[in-house]
Amino acid sequence: MMKLRNWATAGAVALGAAGAGLALKSVLPQHFAIDQAYEPQEAVPDSSTWPEIEVTFLRCGYVTLPEFLVVRGAFSFVPHVNAYSAVLIRHPQGTFLYDTGFCSNIYAFLRNQSLFFRTLLGGFIFEQALSSHLQQLEVKPDDLDFVLLSHLHWDHVSGIPDLPGVPLRINRVEYDAAKLDTSGIAELVWQFMGDNPHELFECTGPAYMGFRSSYDLFGDGSLILVPLPGHTPGNTGLFINRASGPRLFLIGDAAWSAENYMYPATTHPVLWSLFTNDDATARQTLIDLHRFYLRHPEIPVIGMHDARMQKAFMTVEERRLVEA
Ligand SMILES: [Zn+2]
Repeated sequence: MMKLRNWATAGAVALGAAGAGLALKSVLPQHFAIDQAYEPQEAVPDSSTWPEIEVTFLRCGYVTLPEFLVVRGAFSFVPHVNAYSAVLIRHPQGTFLYDTGFCSNIYAFLRNQSLFFRTLLGGFIFEQALSSHLQQLEVKPDDLDFVLLSHLHWDHVSGIPDLPGVPLRINRVEYDAAKLDTSGIAELVWQFMGDNPHELFECTGPAYMGFRSSYDLFGDGSLILVPLPGHTPGNTGLFINRASGPRLFLIGDAAWSAENYMYPATTHPVLWSLFTNDDATARQTLIDLHRFYLRHPEIPVIGMHDARMQKAFMTVEERRLVEA
């Protein structure tokens, strides 16, 4: 007869094995249903109305993570740089930012956060404040017509204190969902947003480039917002279609790194579950981005933390501007 102690040992071994199995599974690739035949209705956009648009990434800070945390299934400890950036967009009808990077007194806002926040999220390297970037480019906060927020997470609204009075344009879905969130981190978002006026928009226009609906920002077909939900309920992407230079597609936090939609693969399940509002919706968005990427390899798809893609884009952009 098996003694109690032996049972306990067998139980511990089984639990240990299950634990090790789960840990191993968490870094293995996950199945994505991407093999079925699927061709979205995608009209060729009319490019005759696209003006010249200048796009400049303003990187304010970064954090370094081992690659296996950023891309599930990547058996690699290679350091991966996650940037915190704003994008300055200069269109003939308006100058605005897509997300905001970090303000100059960011630490004053983070000081009173929980230990969890300060150790896990607050461990970034602060490089250059949004206000300093704008000053370098000779753009005054008053020159900005508005700020477009991809979504309402602290690290995307954290430059707003450098932009007093500049109106914030927010997807209504995102705004309504954020209003219901009573966590400490949600509280921080409202602190960053201060008393800047809010202007809500809705993506209720027609399907665009394979995405379910859209909102044409200036009505000329050059700046098209599309919902990319899952990371948050109203995470919003922005197509930039221009006469000068290549088109591009900014995707907020729908993917942290290009590999996430290229393979496709989520981040490591621990990070994914911490930062994803709706798992199934977020994975469907990754599949949509994956299919878009296959159909349009010529259009860079750039996440707001994707340091490598942002740098590559700016290198090409600066060369193009020098040649022009
Ligand atoms: Zn983010």
